[in-house]
Amino acid sequence: MTGDEGAESLRPRTDAPTPPAAADAFLGHPDGNAAYEDAIRRARDALVESFATAEGPYSGPDPEALRKQLDELAVFPDEGESVEVVLETVADEILDRSVRVHDPGCVAHLHCPPAIPALAAEVLLSGSNQSMDSFDQAPAASVLEERVIDVCCDLFEYPSGADGVFTSGGTESNVLSLLLARDWYCETRFDRSVQTAGLPPEAADLRVLCSDAAHFTTEQAAHLLGLGDDAVVTVPTDDDRRIDLSALDATLERLEADGRRPFALVGTAGTTDFGSIDPLSALADRAADRDLWLHVDAAYGGACAISDRLRPKLAGIDRADSISVDFHKLFYQPIGCGAFLLRDGERYRLLERNAAYLNPERDESTGVPNLVSKSLRTTRRFDALKPFVTFNALGRSGLADCVEYVCDLADAVAAEIRSEPALELCCEPELSAVVFRYRPDRPSGRTDSSELAHVDRVNRTLRDELLADDAVLLARTEIDGIAALKMTLLNPRTTLSDLRDALETVVDRGETLECEVLDPT
Ligand SMILES: *Cc1c(COP(=O)(O)O)cnc(C)c1O
Repeated sequence: MTGDEGAESLRPRTDAPTPPAAADAFLGHPDGNAAYEDAIRRARDALVESFATAEGPYSGPDPEALRKQLDELAVFPDEGESVEVVLETVADEILDRSVRVHDPGCVAHLHCPPAIPALAAEVLLSGSNQSMDSFDQAPAASVLEERVIDVCCDLFEYPSGADGVFTSGGTESNVLSLLLARDWYCETRFDRSVQTAGLPPEAADLRVLCSDAAHFTTEQAAHLLGLGDDAVVTVPTDDDRRIDLSALDATLERLEADGRRPFALVGTAGTTDFGSIDPLSALADRAADRDLWLHVDAAYGGACAISDRLRPKLAGIDRADSISVDFHKLFYQPIGCGAFLLRDGERYRLLERNAAYLNPERDESTGVPNLVSKSLRTTRRFDALKPFVTFNALGRSGLADCVEYVCDLADAVAAEIRSEPALELCCEPELSAVVFRYRPDRPSGRTDSSELAHVDRVNRTLRDELLADDAVLLARTEIDGIAALKMTLLNPRTTLSDLRDALETVVDRGETLECEVLDPT
């Protein structure tokens, strides 16, 4: 209907409000479309310019200085500026003081450089702004998310009937897994619906088991689910940072003898610090023997499934009741992008609810996609488009090459560390994480415990100094309370020569620190 026809058929009763000048900041009108093209081009240029001129992964100020500098910025002025001016401010004040995840020396966290096809997908999915909470807000997007989830289920060799949903990442996926595990246990053991009746009196005895190297979100999930952190029982790990199976068996027996109710076992495929992978088949055996829900947190290591060479590391994962996988780690997707996969999709009924405005019950018989019932969220981004575009652009072999390369690089840098007397390798790499320490010279007269305190102090200071340096960005962690340094290799552009330089910097800095700052004699 054109405006004129409307004017004829509808007798005006009130004065029509005039659209505001800011209406040009919206797509759909020629002026808006031109403004969109201009704004996106400027944003893109600012980003490329910032990468082209940057030196090193980060050379910015500390938090206090940053607060002071950013304090000067207007956040919500009464009158607006042109997008051009605002984006210039962002480029100068924010981009230039950001971590450059694309820099080969940015090897700290599980924080990847995003693949370019996914960045193009981001433009499309935020511009088209489909909302995954109902089919009528995201028609093709809903069906495509179902397709991508099916392909992910196939990657982990799940049987037909498996299901899943995109999540913001491992945190949300892990909460979803323990929520379903808890509710399934209460339904099958006590014939109780937690969804309607809440926790049963036996809830105080519910227990989740995982290794002491598992991610903290297992405890966070237990807290959110009303079970408390204390419901998570951690099992020691072996020298390779994998769950110790005899300790697991002993723990299960002790819990049962004490009248506790273990209901879920969480295995990790790629611990955040070490990349270690629990023996998943052995965990699946224990879960089957005791009818426990096996959840595999494959936020990091799930990417092995795309590589023929690395896939055997995940043997047994297909027997897990549920899996968390993060695409914003070793799948090179921009944040946030993860998935939760459920071996028996039927169990989603534990979560289902119907809202008249989104997914009325009558829709179910007609096969309308109903993603809101699989998610903890309502309004949700079309993040499935990012892996879809990336998978199609790089192909499985292209993506697998990247994952294999960074794992090979980890082995190579571990060998360098082993051959450098001033460094100590803390754990053999399983994926692409390398944990090590600078090893100070042992001065005579130190006791063992003051020696450890010294190692801790040197490595802690070292990493803080390196953060201020612009050459390399490492992470820190602790092993048995003693600081260690960590590289997490994700960037397929990082070379062994970049990492040799980084190690050299660590050794040089360590030596200077030792004699000048920490050990003034
Ligand atoms: C990163 C990570 C998480 C947390 O996931 P987010 O995507 O940060 O929410 C959970 N578990 C493991 C093993 C991880 O590496």
